[in-house]
Amino acid sequence: MSCSRIRVRNAWLVCGDGSAPRRGELLVSAEEGILAAGGPFIDGGEVIDGRGCLLAPGFIDAHGHSDISALAFPDCFSKVSQGVTTEIAGNCGLAAFPLTGENREHLEALYAEYGVPLDWNDCPSYRETLRKRGCALDVIALCGHNTLRAAVAGYEKEVLSPPELEEMKRLLDLALDAGSPGLSTGLLYVPGKFASEEEIVELMKVLTRHDAIYTTHLASEGTGLLEALDRTFSMARRAGLKKVQISHFKTAGPANWGKLDGALELIRQAAAEGIRVTVDRYPYTESMTQLSVILPGKWGDMDDVAIMKKLGSSEARIGLAAALRQERSADYWETVRLVSTGAAAGRGGRGKRLSELSEDPASFVVELLAGDAAGTCAAFSGMSPGNLDRIMALDFCMPGSDGNALSRDCRVKTHPRAFGTVPRFLRRLLEKNVSPGEAVRRACGLPAETFGLADRGLLAPGRRADLVLFDPDELEDTADFSFPESPARGILFTMVSGKIVYRP
Ligand SMILES: [Zn+2]
Repeated sequence: MSCSRIRVRNAWLVCGDGSAPRRGELLVSAEEGILAAGGPFIDGGEVIDGRGCLLAPGFIDAHGHSDISALAFPDCFSKVSQGVTTEIAGNCGLAAFPLTGENREHLEALYAEYGVPLDWNDCPSYRETLRKRGCALDVIALCGHNTLRAAVAGYEKEVLSPPELEEMKRLLDLALDAGSPGLSTGLLYVPGKFASEEEIVELMKVLTRHDAIYTTHLASEGTGLLEALDRTFSMARRAGLKKVQISHFKTAGPANWGKLDGALELIRQAAAEGIRVTVDRYPYTESMTQLSVILPGKWGDMDDVAIMKKLGSSEARIGLAAALRQERSADYWETVRLVSTGAAAGRGGRGKRLSELSEDPASFVVELLAGDAAGTCAAFSGMSPGNLDRIMALDFCMPGSDGNALSRDCRVKTHPRAFGTVPRFLRRLLEKNVSPGEAVRRACGLPAETFGLADRGLLAPGRRADLVLFDPDELEDTADFSFPESPARGILFTMVSGKIVYRP
C-alpha cells in the first residue's frame, strides 16, 4: 500500500479555487487521492521533481464528445496531452445511453468509423464498459435528450404521446440515479428540434428533483440567439431549475455579433433570480459539426441515415443540389471547410474550403452526403474574435473543447480544438493578465462545482489524485487545421488517479 505513494516536490501548488499559487509539495496515493498539500514531507514513496512549475488539479473539459471515441482510443491522447483528466461527455443531446431497439442502429451507423460494438443498454452498463476498457481519461456522461427521445420514440416522431414522455422521464431519472450529472439538449438536431416546451419543462422537473444540471446547445446561436436564451430561462423558471449551462456560448454570424450585450443581460437577469448560469467555450472562431445541418427544407428534418438513403436516387441528388444553390450565395462556400468524410468524393480535400474544392460546391456537398452523411463534418467560420475574448473573460466561463478523445496517430481528421482547447484557453487568459490562480480555477474548480463533482477539481486532501504539472511560460496550443493532431506545449505530466498517463 505505502509504495503507491507519490510526492511531488519543488512545485508551485495551484489549488483550483482561484487562490494564488504557493510554493510547496504534494503527497498523493492512487487509492486515497490527495493526502496532504504543503510540506515539506518526509515520505518513502516515489519522488517527482516539479521543476519549479505549476502543479494543478487535472483539468476538466466541460464539453466533450468522447462517448464512443474514448473506447476506440483508450489512451485519449488528445485530452491527456492537454492536462485534461476528466471530460463531461454526452453533450448537445447526443449520448451513448440509453440504447433500445429504437435508436441502437442509428447510433451504430453514426459511430461506425470507430468500430466499437455498442453492446450496453443504460448508464450503468455504459460506465462499466468504460471502466473495463481502462480509458486514460475519466469520462462522465450527461444524459442526451436526442438519444433519450429516440430511445423511446425513434428519430421521426414529432409529437410524443403522454406515455412516451413518461417513459423519457423514467429513463432520465434512472440515469441521474446512476450518477449522470444532468441532461443535455441539442435543439437544432433531429429529433430534439421536434420537442415542445412542455416536453423540456417536464424533463427539467426531473433535473430539479435531483439538483442536476441542464446544458443546452441552443436552438439558435445566431439569428434566434436571444429568443433561444430567453426560452431556456423561461422553461427553467417554470421547472424550478437552478443550474443551467449554455454550451459553446457564441454569437454566430457577423450579423449577430451585436447580440452579445443582450445575451449577457438575459443571463444576468436569470442569475439575479437565483439560476446558476454557466457557459463553456472553445477558444476558436470556427465551429464544427455535421455538414448535413446546412440542408434546407424537409431535408433539415431528416437524420443522417435517412438522408443517405434518400440520396441513393439521382433525382433526389439533383433536387437537393438545386435547392442548395438557391439557398446559399456563392461566397457562403468560402466560409465552410471540410474537416472529415468517408465519402470518396472528399478524399484529399480535408482541411480545405468548399469553394477551393469544387466549382459547384452545392453538387459537391450532395456527393459528400450521399457517400457518408453521418461522418462528413465541416468547420464554419463566422464567429467574432472580440466576442470570443469577452466571453472567455466571464468568470463563469470554462473551457469546453466540443472535441473527441483521439490517439495521436488515429488519422481521424478533426478540428484543432480537440488537441488544443485547454492550453489555448489558459494561454489567452494569462495574456490578458488574468492571474494564474483564476485561470486554473476556470479549468478545474469551476467545472467540478458546476457538474457536482465533489471528489475532484481542487488540490485538497481527499480529492482524487488527478494532477497536471505545467510550465505557464511554455504553455501553448500548436494544433491548426493543417495539423490538428499536434499536441500542446508546456504540459510536463498528466496524472489520473495517481497514475501518470501523459509525459511529452
Ligand atoms: Zn453542440
